[in-house]
Amino acid sequence: MTSRQAAITIIKRLQRNGFQALLAGGCVRDKLLGRRAKDYDVATNAQPKDVIGLFKRTLKVGAKFGVVIVLVENRQVEVATFRTESGYTDGRHPGAVRFAGAAEDACRRDFTINGMFYDPLKREVLDYVNGQADLEKRVVRTIGKAEDRFAEDHLRMLRAVRFSTQLGFAIEPLTFSAICSNAKDITKISGERIAIEMEAILANPNRAAGVSMLNKSGLSEAIFGGFAREPAGFAVEVLAGLRKKVDFALAMACLFAGCRTEFAIEKCRVLKLSRSRNKHIKFLLSNRGKLLDEQMSLAQLKRILAEPYFWDLYELQRAIQKAKDGGRKSIAPLISLRRRIKELGDVELRPKPLLSGHDLIRLGAVPGPGLGQLAEEMYIAQLEGKLQTARQARQWVQMWLQKHRMIDR
Ligand code: ATP
Ligand code: MG
Repeated sequence: MTSRQAAITIIKRLQRNGFQALLAGGCVRDKLLGRRAKDYDVATNAQPKDVIGLFKRTLKVGAKFGVVIVLVENRQVEVATFRTESGYTDGRHPGAVRFAGAAEDACRRDFTINGMFYDPLKREVLDYVNGQADLEKRVVRTIGKAEDRFAEDHLRMLRAVRFSTQLGFAIEPLTFSAICSNAKDITKISGERIAIEMEAILANPNRAAGVSMLNKSGLSEAIFGGFAREPAGFAVEVLAGLRKKVDFALAMACLFAGCRTEFAIEKCRVLKLSRSRNKHIKFLLSNRGKLLDEQMSLAQLKRILAEPYFWDLYELQRAIQKAKDGGRKSIAPLISLRRRIKELGDVELRPKPLLSGHDLIRLGAVPGPGLGQLAEEMYIAQLEGKLQTARQARQWVQMWLQKHRMIDR
């Protein structure tokens, strides 16, 4: 059963029991646009207790706010009672909700394109907010006065940019200027919530347009204080050069491609990303430029190739080079790097050292920092292909020990 079928099953049961029940929000927008919806939400005039009474398996996650999750086969569907919301005080959550009718429920929603209902049985759109006209105009417009709606819930500003990016819609001018004048308030939203929206913007192939809007509206400066003084425009160009599907960490590194690594790491902290994501971003930014070194030794090449995020680093550098002069010249070092990689074939990038630490001690090396140095140099010689067998390695080590004892004296 698809989640759409699950939602329709629920709607049928509610309607048969005398309630009004409709598909609501994003899935109606996506249906009208011919896009695949992410999830199917149901809105109804049935109260949570009615919903809980009508279905065998329910989760009362937000029954107080009118939201019940209904489980049908393997699907979870959010069934929300029509409501109005009021008394926003913290810039994100309503202080009170009151159950209401469909028209009022439409008006509490964020954007006109997200404010429509659809009756899948009658095949009828219920549009109290002129959403269809804005879908046709391809604009993101708040329902009601933009200033007020962004003051109630600051996250909506980032959501506007997110929908605009994902749908390729413009942000309606009054909506956009309200974002510009309220952008600073975004800092009152939790880093985790900001990160979710940033990820959705950066995951989309239209990400460069999204970041350009973040820059123009002042949202990127508000989120990453000082970003506007860095080459923020460069970020847009680098992001434009990425392939369609990229990891969030790679897109974040592109966002900060014109900034110092320390600045970027510091700024990323507000998003409260996982340790592994931060590590990924740091690796990419701190290794910028390395792949352009055509004198890179074979050992260095093997080592960097063995890094788990090597191909993201390659993609970052490619996007940076493209942004620099948009042309072939700056991409040349990467083309020769690819050739070198191809020539390597499927050689072992991280072979086992030909000799162990014990072997080195047996050959006369003294335990201590010198031993580490010896092991490292021997391993580099191995990666360079100068040492192929344990026998060769032993000879090489003996020479090394002789040479260094000579230096010691
Ligand atoms: P997606 O396809 O990304 O899921 P969506 O439009 O379904 O987009 P959701 O975040 O799933 O967005 O929210 C579902 C619906 O709830 C929205 O379409 C909108 O009507 C309403 N909504 C969600 N967040 C807000 C908000 N912060 N303020 C007002 N209405 C909101
Ligand atoms: Mg949704």
